[in-house]
Amino acid sequence: MDESVERLTDLVRDAHRIVVFTGAGISTESGIPDFRGPNGVWTKFNPEDFTFDKFLASAEARRRHWLRGAQSYATIRKAEPNAAHRAVADLERMGRLGAVITQNVDGLHQMAGVPEDKVIELHGNTRRVGCLSCGHTVDREAFQPLVSPEGDAPDCEKCGGLMKPTTISFGQMLDPRTVERATAETEQCDLFLVVGSSLVVYPAAGYPMVAAQRGVPLAIVNLQETPHDSYATLVVRAFAGELLPPVVRALRAEAAAPVPLPS
Ligand code: ZN
Repeated sequence: MDESVERLTDLVRDAHRIVVFTGAGISTESGIPDFRGPNGVWTKFNPEDFTFDKFLASAEARRRHWLRGAQSYATIRKAEPNAAHRAVADLERMGRLGAVITQNVDGLHQMAGVPEDKVIELHGNTRRVGCLSCGHTVDREAFQPLVSPEGDAPDCEKCGGLMKPTTISFGQMLDPRTVERATAETEQCDLFLVVGSSLVVYPAAGYPMVAAQRGVPLAIVNLQETPHDSYATLVVRAFAGELLPPVVRALRAEAAAPVPLPS
């Protein structure tokens, strides 16, 4: 572990526009299970019943969506950022972060202190609910109690359109502007740091390659192996909450150390 901390500290020391790319693994330490993982909720439901097209087409599918979503939201709303989220926020305060690109929908990076405009949420955010017609959004915390026990959700208060959590459903296109921002940040970063993602689904799987092709160091902190390990600069199998805080501490100690006078 100590050697990994040192090697990652070396990479971060030289970087001033880091992209931190996060997946479910960073939030499991906050008690949020990997919903799409091998033991996740999607092994108990048929994703085919929850596609975006079905949500649009059928009131029954919308009720299913709201009832099932209420369960994962109940878990997420109680979750707090952990040491890894806080370390990423520290990197931002130290002026080293370009952006966080995340596959997570839990909003924990912002809660840890990363400014909203530096968090690129590929799959949306489950703490908000938005109108599919006019884009009006409201807090899930205020909206969820308005959903009936049968799963009927109120329509948009502005235009009467369908309301849906602002997360990307199966079969729903990612927001092209979000994907574009993530690509732009990856094209400008000087370190691509993956935390808690196995990088198997696109577009997630593409970004590390974009960075590596530019000759930018790629560091992967993940408990499981990923298809990108072979060309990464550094691969660490560790809990992010244990690895990242000592890196931040080491850099802070260096910054605080008195500069030796020229002799
Ligand atoms: Zn509306």
